[in-house]
Amino acid sequence: MRIDIATLFPEVCENYLSASIIGRARAAGAVEINCRNIRDYAGNKHNRVDDKPYGGGTGMVLQPEPVYSCIRDIMYNTGDSPNAELIYMSPQGRTLTQELVKELAAKPWLIILCGHYEGVDCRVLDELGFTEISVGDYVVTGGELPALILCDSVVRLQEGVLPDSSAYTKDSHWAGLLEHPLYTRPEVWRGRTVPETLLSGHHARIEEWRAEESMRVTAAKRPDMKES
Ligand code: SAM
Repeated sequence: MRIDIATLFPEVCENYLSASIIGRARAAGAVEINCRNIRDYAGNKHNRVDDKPYGGGTGMVLQPEPVYSCIRDIMYNTGDSPNAELIYMSPQGRTLTQELVKELAAKPWLIILCGHYEGVDCRVLDELGFTEISVGDYVVTGGELPALILCDSVVRLQEGVLPDSSAYTKDSHWAGLLEHPLYTRPEVWRGRTVPETLLSGHHARIEEWRAEESMRVTAAKRPDMKES
Protein backbone atom coordinates (compact mmCIF):
# COMPACT_ATOMS: atom_id res chain seq x y z
CA MET A 1 0.00 0.00 0.00
CA ARG A 2 1.08 3.55 -0.69
CA ILE A 3 0.08 6.68 1.26
CA ASP A 4 0.97 10.28 0.38
CA ILE A 5 0.28 13.13 2.81
CA ALA A 6 0.01 16.68 1.46
CA THR A 7 0.62 19.11 4.31
CA LEU A 8 2.18 22.43 5.30
CA PHE A 9 4.05 20.57 8.06
CA PRO A 10 5.68 17.47 6.55
CA GLU A 11 8.23 17.31 9.39
CA VAL A 12 5.43 16.87 11.96
CA CYS A 13 4.11 13.88 10.02
CA GLU A 14 7.56 12.46 9.23
CA ASN A 15 8.55 12.48 12.91
CA TYR A 16 5.63 10.35 13.94
CA LEU A 17 5.75 8.09 10.90
CA SER A 18 9.45 7.32 11.37
CA ALA A 19 9.05 5.91 14.87
CA SER A 20 7.97 2.61 16.38
CA ILE A 21 5.73 0.15 14.50
CA ILE A 22 4.98 2.46 11.55
CA GLY A 23 8.64 3.43 11.16
CA ARG A 24 9.65 -0.25 11.12
CA ALA A 25 6.87 -1.09 8.64
CA ARG A 26 8.16 1.61 6.30
CA ALA A 27 11.76 0.47 6.67
CA ALA A 28 10.72 -3.13 5.93
CA GLY A 29 8.79 -2.03 2.82
CA ALA A 30 5.38 -3.18 4.15
CA VAL A 31 4.04 0.27 3.27
CA GLU A 32 5.29 3.30 1.34
CA ILE A 33 4.53 6.67 2.93
CA ASN A 34 5.58 10.05 1.51
CA CYS A 35 5.02 13.51 2.99
CA ARG A 36 4.74 16.37 0.52
CA ASN A 37 4.94 20.09 1.38
CA ILE A 38 2.09 22.06 -0.21
CA ARG A 39 4.25 25.18 0.09
CA ASP A 40 6.61 23.76 -2.55
CA TYR A 41 3.77 24.41 -5.00
CA ALA A 42 3.15 28.04 -3.97
CA GLY A 43 4.24 29.35 -7.36
CA ASN A 44 5.26 32.77 -5.95
CA LYS A 45 8.47 34.15 -4.51
CA HIS A 46 7.04 34.55 -1.00
CA ASN A 47 5.93 30.90 -0.90
CA ARG A 48 2.48 32.08 0.06
CA VAL A 49 -0.31 29.50 -0.13
CA ASP A 50 -3.14 31.16 1.80
CA ASP A 51 -5.29 34.28 1.62
CA LYS A 52 -8.19 35.99 3.38
CA PRO A 53 -11.64 34.46 3.02
CA TYR A 54 -13.99 36.12 0.54
CA GLY A 55 -16.88 37.65 2.46
CA GLY A 56 -14.62 38.59 5.38
CA GLY A 57 -14.05 36.94 8.73
CA THR A 58 -11.04 35.80 10.71
CA GLY A 59 -8.39 33.32 9.62
CA MET A 60 -6.87 32.39 6.32
CA VAL A 61 -7.89 29.91 3.65
CA LEU A 62 -5.57 27.59 1.71
CA GLN A 63 -5.66 28.64 -1.93
CA PRO A 64 -6.84 26.15 -4.53
CA GLU A 65 -3.94 26.27 -7.01
CA PRO A 66 -1.07 25.15 -4.71
CA VAL A 67 -3.25 22.31 -3.41
CA TYR A 68 -4.24 21.37 -6.96
CA SER A 69 -0.64 21.41 -8.23
CA CYS A 70 0.60 19.40 -5.25
CA ILE A 71 -2.05 16.68 -5.53
CA ARG A 72 -1.78 16.46 -9.33
CA ASP A 73 2.00 16.18 -9.08
CA ILE A 74 1.69 13.31 -6.61
CA MET A 75 -0.95 11.61 -8.74
CA TYR A 76 0.65 11.87 -12.14
CA ASN A 77 4.37 12.47 -11.66
CA THR A 78 5.28 10.18 -8.79
CA GLY A 79 3.08 7.16 -9.42
CA ASP A 80 2.15 4.98 -12.35
CA SER A 81 -1.58 5.15 -11.73
CA PRO A 82 -4.01 8.06 -11.31
CA ASN A 83 -6.38 5.75 -9.38
CA ALA A 84 -5.57 7.00 -5.92
CA GLU A 85 -8.24 7.61 -3.28
CA LEU A 86 -8.21 11.34 -2.46
CA ILE A 87 -9.02 12.14 1.17
CA TYR A 88 -9.39 15.54 2.78
CA MET A 89 -9.18 15.45 6.58
CA SER A 90 -12.12 17.60 7.67
CA PRO A 91 -14.41 17.97 10.69
CA GLN A 92 -17.25 17.98 8.15
CA GLY A 93 -16.48 14.50 6.79
CA ARG A 94 -17.62 10.94 7.43
CA THR A 95 -16.46 9.88 10.88
CA LEU A 96 -13.52 7.49 10.93
CA THR A 97 -14.55 4.14 12.43
CA GLN A 98 -12.89 0.74 12.41
CA GLU A 99 -15.24 -0.26 9.55
CA LEU A 100 -14.06 2.69 7.46
CA VAL A 101 -10.45 1.91 8.41
CA LYS A 102 -10.92 -1.64 7.06
CA GLU A 103 -12.30 -0.21 3.79
CA LEU A 104 -9.40 2.20 3.39
CA ALA A 105 -6.81 -0.40 4.34
CA ALA A 106 -7.85 -2.44 1.30
CA LYS A 107 -7.09 0.43 -1.13
CA PRO A 108 -3.77 0.40 -2.94
CA TRP A 109 -3.09 4.13 -2.68
CA LEU A 110 -4.38 6.96 -0.46
CA ILE A 111 -3.51 10.62 -0.94
CA ILE A 112 -4.39 12.57 2.21
CA LEU A 113 -4.77 16.36 2.25
CA CYS A 114 -4.29 18.21 5.55
CA GLY A 115 -6.02 21.57 5.84
CA HIS A 116 -4.83 24.37 8.10
CA TYR A 117 -6.01 27.79 9.30
CA GLU A 118 -9.72 28.13 8.41
CA GLY A 119 -9.54 25.31 5.88
CA VAL A 120 -9.21 24.82 2.12
CA ASP A 121 -10.90 26.64 -0.78
CA CYS A 122 -13.82 24.31 -1.56
CA ARG A 123 -13.34 24.55 -5.33
CA VAL A 124 -10.23 22.39 -5.34
CA LEU A 125 -11.99 19.76 -3.25
CA ASP A 126 -14.77 19.57 -5.84
CA GLU A 127 -12.42 19.77 -8.81
CA LEU A 128 -10.33 16.79 -7.72
CA GLY A 129 -13.14 14.83 -6.04
CA PHE A 130 -11.96 14.46 -2.45
CA THR A 131 -13.74 12.30 0.11
CA GLU A 132 -13.89 14.11 3.46
CA ILE A 133 -13.05 12.15 6.59
CA SER A 134 -13.32 13.38 10.17
CA VAL A 135 -11.69 12.00 13.32
CA GLY A 136 -14.61 13.16 15.46
CA ASP A 137 -17.04 15.95 16.16
CA TYR A 138 -14.53 18.51 17.38
CA VAL A 139 -12.08 20.83 15.65
CA VAL A 140 -8.27 20.79 15.83
CA THR A 141 -5.95 23.38 14.30
CA GLY A 142 -4.72 21.32 11.36
CA GLY A 143 -5.22 18.09 9.45
CA GLU A 144 -1.87 16.58 10.47
CA LEU A 145 -2.99 14.80 13.65
CA PRO A 146 -6.17 13.51 11.96
CA ALA A 147 -4.11 12.33 8.95
CA LEU A 148 -1.69 10.52 11.26
CA ILE A 149 -4.57 8.82 13.05
CA LEU A 150 -5.97 7.63 9.72
CA CYS A 151 -2.53 6.58 8.49
CA ASP A 152 -1.66 4.67 11.66
CA SER A 153 -4.99 2.85 11.82
CA VAL A 154 -4.72 1.77 8.18
CA VAL A 155 -1.03 0.81 8.23
CA ARG A 156 -1.36 -1.51 11.24
CA LEU A 157 -3.76 -3.65 9.18
CA GLN A 158 -1.23 -4.17 6.37
CA GLU A 159 0.41 -7.56 6.09
CA GLY A 160 3.77 -7.76 7.80
CA VAL A 161 3.20 -4.78 10.11
CA LEU A 162 1.90 -6.62 13.20
CA PRO A 163 2.99 -10.19 14.05
CA ASP A 164 -0.28 -11.69 12.67
CA SER A 165 -3.91 -10.75 12.10
CA SER A 166 -4.97 -11.76 15.64
CA ALA A 167 -2.98 -8.72 16.82
CA TYR A 168 -5.77 -6.55 15.44
CA THR A 169 -8.84 -8.80 15.03
CA LYS A 170 -9.02 -9.24 18.81
CA ASP A 171 -8.78 -5.52 19.50
CA SER A 172 -11.66 -3.27 20.48
CA HIS A 173 -14.04 -2.31 17.65
CA TRP A 174 -12.94 -5.02 15.20
CA ALA A 175 -16.09 -7.05 15.78
CA GLY A 176 -18.31 -4.45 17.42
CA LEU A 177 -17.11 -5.11 20.97
CA LEU A 178 -14.47 -3.73 23.33
CA GLU A 179 -11.53 -5.90 24.31
CA HIS A 180 -11.50 -7.79 27.63
CA PRO A 181 -9.34 -6.37 30.49
CA LEU A 182 -5.58 -7.03 30.28
CA TYR A 183 -3.19 -8.22 33.00
CA THR A 184 0.58 -8.78 33.10
CA ARG A 185 3.19 -9.48 35.81
CA PRO A 186 3.25 -9.25 38.79
CA GLU A 187 0.52 -11.66 39.82
CA VAL A 188 -0.40 -9.45 42.80
CA TRP A 189 0.02 -5.69 42.51
CA ARG A 190 -0.92 -3.41 45.42
CA GLY A 191 -3.26 -6.10 46.69
CA ARG A 192 -4.96 -6.50 43.31
CA THR A 193 -4.83 -10.02 41.93
CA VAL A 194 -5.00 -11.52 38.44
CA PRO A 195 -8.22 -13.52 37.81
CA GLU A 196 -7.62 -17.18 38.62
CA THR A 197 -8.81 -18.32 35.14
CA LEU A 198 -5.98 -16.45 33.43
CA LEU A 199 -3.44 -18.32 35.57
CA SER A 200 -5.05 -21.72 34.97
CA GLY A 201 -3.35 -22.46 31.64
CA HIS A 202 -6.72 -23.83 30.46
CA HIS A 203 -7.03 -22.37 26.98
CA ALA A 204 -10.76 -22.95 26.44
CA ARG A 205 -11.69 -21.48 29.84
CA ILE A 206 -9.48 -18.46 29.20
CA GLU A 207 -11.17 -17.84 25.83
CA GLU A 208 -14.59 -18.16 27.47
CA TRP A 209 -13.57 -15.72 30.23
CA ARG A 210 -12.29 -13.23 27.65
CA ALA A 211 -15.48 -13.43 25.59
CA GLU A 212 -17.66 -12.86 28.65
CA GLU A 213 -15.49 -10.01 29.91
CA SER A 214 -15.53 -8.43 26.47
CA MET A 215 -19.33 -8.33 26.54
CA ARG A 216 -19.43 -7.13 30.14
CA VAL A 217 -16.96 -4.31 29.47
CA THR A 218 -18.76 -3.24 26.29
CA ALA A 219 -22.13 -3.09 28.06
CA ALA A 220 -20.61 -1.13 30.95
CA LYS A 221 -18.43 1.35 29.01
CA ARG A 222 -20.23 1.63 25.70
CA PRO A 223 -23.86 0.58 26.00
CA ASP A 224 -24.47 2.28 22.65
CA MET A 225 -22.35 -0.29 20.80
CA LYS A 226 -24.09 -3.24 19.22
CA GLU A 227 -22.51 -6.61 18.56
CA SER A 228 -21.94 -6.94 14.80
N1 SAM B 1 -13.22 26.06 9.46
C1 SAM B 1 -13.28 24.63 9.43
C2 SAM B 1 -14.71 24.17 9.75
O1 SAM B 1 -15.35 24.84 10.55
O2 SAM B 1 -15.15 23.12 9.23
C3 SAM B 1 -12.31 24.02 10.43
C4 SAM B 1 -10.89 24.25 10.05
S1 SAM B 1 -9.73 23.51 11.13
C5 SAM B 1 -9.37 24.81 12.25
C6 SAM B 1 -8.27 23.40 10.16
C7 SAM B 1 -8.04 22.05 9.52
O3 SAM B 1 -7.88 21.06 10.52
C8 SAM B 1 -9.12 21.53 8.61
O4 SAM B 1 -8.99 22.06 7.32
C9 SAM B 1 -8.91 20.04 8.67
O5 SAM B 1 -7.96 19.62 7.71
C10 SAM B 1 -8.35 19.82 10.05
N2 SAM B 1 -9.33 19.31 11.03
C11 SAM B 1 -9.82 19.98 12.09
N3 SAM B 1 -10.67 19.23 12.79
C12 SAM B 1 -10.72 18.03 12.18
C13 SAM B 1 -11.42 16.82 12.43
N4 SAM B 1 -12.27 16.69 13.43
N5 SAM B 1 -11.22 15.78 11.58
C14 SAM B 1 -10.39 15.89 10.55
N6 SAM B 1 -9.69 17.01 10.24
C15 SAM B 1 -9.87 18.07 11.04
